Amino acid sequence: MVNYKTIYKCHECGATSYQKVIDRAQNGALLPTGQYRCTGCRNIFSDIRSWWEPRRSAEQPCATPSA
Ligand SMILES: [Zn+2]
Repeated sequence: MVNYKTIYKCHECGATSYQKVIDRAQNGALLPTGQYRCTGCRNIFSDIRSWWEPRRSAEQPCATPSA
């Protein structure tokens, strides 16, 4: 499987490459699901951004605009 090298790295494990997730469709064809799997921690991410971007916490620290 092809590894995609990027300038980004996994926010979980620091790996710098990922693979497209390929899954079997209903007609039997192998198709990319549009998701990505980190080659380091093997986590699945719904897009590249969520792979390299640190997960946002529910609370936004000190980000309450006063106006
Ligand atoms: Zn990772």
